Amino acid sequence: MGDQSQRPQRRALLDRYGRLHSYLRISVTDRCNYRCTYCMPAEGMSWLPRKDLLHYEEIARIVAIFAGMGIRRVRLTGGEPTVRRDILSLVRSLGKIPGIEDLAMTTNGHLVAPLAPALKEAGLRRVNISIDTLDPQKFAAITRGGQLGAVLAAIDACRTAGLGPVKLNMVVIGGENESELLPMAQYVLERAEDTMLRFIEYMPFADRWHRTVSAEEIRQELSKEFRLEPESYAGPGGGPAKYWLAWHPSRNIPLRIGFIAPLTEHFCASCNRLRLLADGSLRTCLAHEKTPNLRDLLRSGASDPEVEAVLRQIVLGKPAGHESQTEGGQNFEGIMTAIGG
Ligand code: SAM
Ligand code: SF4
Repeated sequence: MGDQSQRPQRRALLDRYGRLHSYLRISVTDRCNYRCTYCMPAEGMSWLPRKDLLHYEEIARIVAIFAGMGIRRVRLTGGEPTVRRDILSLVRSLGKIPGIEDLAMTTNGHLVAPLAPALKEAGLRRVNISIDTLDPQKFAAITRGGQLGAVLAAIDACRTAGLGPVKLNMVVIGGENESELLPMAQYVLERAEDTMLRFIEYMPFADRWHRTVSAEEIRQELSKEFRLEPESYAGPGGGPAKYWLAWHPSRNIPLRIGFIAPLTEHFCASCNRLRLLADGSLRTCLAHEKTPNLRDLLRSGASDPEVEAVLRQIVLGKPAGHESQTEGGQNFEGIMTAIGG
């Protein structure tokens, strides 16, 4: 009854390290209309058969059970979430679940421009859009065929639809788009009222396809045009980004720039997130593949209290963190397009 944030702590989702879980990322499909070089290999990908995907009703049921256990924020991701059929109906049903305070989406933006008003109307609050360069040729090369124009149109459409602040995520890849850091910051500077920029360190999955550029190296490059100052802001809805204020001589208000540095400034000790994969696997750590499957449990007729008990056990088994480094260390397990970032 009433405000779910006041629910007794006995239902809270704690792991054995005392981390409280309030954030669920849902990969709704492993398929994608892009083939980003840092996310998947050029060839040899195989996709989940449709029968193995969680149905929307199953996703909504899992989210409702999680909401009763303290999950407050949900993010739809993929693969590319907008390629799954009738994504609006999923947004609509998740938006109605009591206790879910923030419903967001991470997308490559390719199909989003015409969808933005309907996404907003269906209950989506915010979007993150991935964009790694403002150079159309480089963009096509990194995404293996993506269209920069479509993504820029999506950014504008989301801003107009009120899906802001629109966070732009740029994965920085050694030797490929480091020269794009300052142009991207300039682009956001011109849209600073409702657009934010976050730089992400490249994480090696399966094979190390690229060189990771550290958050510190990124800041050094930005320092050529901006004066940077760390701040304690946690960002809209919290999350792993550390924010810095970036002062530019042309503007008397600073830009707020996020750095997601899973390798050089990792945030495992405060991780509050869980990841539901398209096939129903529940991944407690981005780096580790051990992923018990909820789909079979649901389809075997388990009751909500039974599912809740299983979720609690899975969260208790969450690993402490990862050992990946910019060079050496372990790679992250699995394939990013299945996990959803
Ligand atoms: N297709 C959507 C998109 O690109 O935004 C959602 C899924 S994508 C896997 C989620 C996020 O993960 C994107 O921001 C993407 O740039 C990021 N990402 C993918 N592979 C990565 C890697 N190896 N290291 C760091 N970030 C990665
Ligand atoms: Fe697709 Fe997103 Fe992976 Fe790029 S990062 S291939 S857009 S899932």
